[in-house]
Amino acid sequence: MHVMEGRARVACSPTIGFHHAGYHDGGGFCTFNGLVATALELKALGLVDAVGILDMDQHYGDGTDDIIFRLDLSWVRHISTGGNRNARQRMLEHGREMVVEKFAAVDLLLYQAGADSHVDDPLGGYLGTEQMRRRDADVFAACEGANIPLVWNLAGGYQRDASGGIAPVLGLHRNTMNECIRVYAAAGEQAASALSRVAVPVPVPG
Ligand SMILES: [Zn+2]
Repeated sequence: MHVMEGRARVACSPTIGFHHAGYHDGGGFCTFNGLVATALELKALGLVDAVGILDMDQHYGDGTDDIIFRLDLSWVRHISTGGNRNARQRMLEHGREMVVEKFAAVDLLLYQAGADSHVDDPLGGYLGTEQMRRRDADVFAACEGANIPLVWNLAGGYQRDASGGIAPVLGLHRNTMNECIRVYAAAGEQAASALSRVAVPVPVPG
């Protein structure tokens, strides 16, 4: 809500398990489709005209597509790179430009930052750690630069450490958060320094 009310430009929803849930049923670890539910709620509240969903999980957002199709949600722009190596490659090479091109007109972008895109993930990723950092940084920089309100959430991630813990997945989520902070903090510093260079006219008592 802070993002929609203009009090923040980016927010993280530390939630997971959405994009395989369709109109009738859950699926693939996903019970409800929180992405589309968020879009529908904001629309019902009159806070948005158009919403973007950028899904960069390793797997295709079939549930999201299913609901969009069944409810004819032409105002929801959904791009899922899952299962499409060419789309993922294009997004890696031209991510920043593509995010602006596809989503500049939406009132809010929901970005699903799947951790199972990683090369060590047992469910099929092929990006290295630095490539994933760049993937996230491009999305953040594009939204920050083009002033697209952004909410991102977690997704995927099935790696385990030697004792069966999820530390490797948490490390990838932490990288996404660090890129978010880095991009938006750097932009904030630039804005503050530009502001400090603006000469403020001193009112002359009349
Ligand atoms: Zn996945």
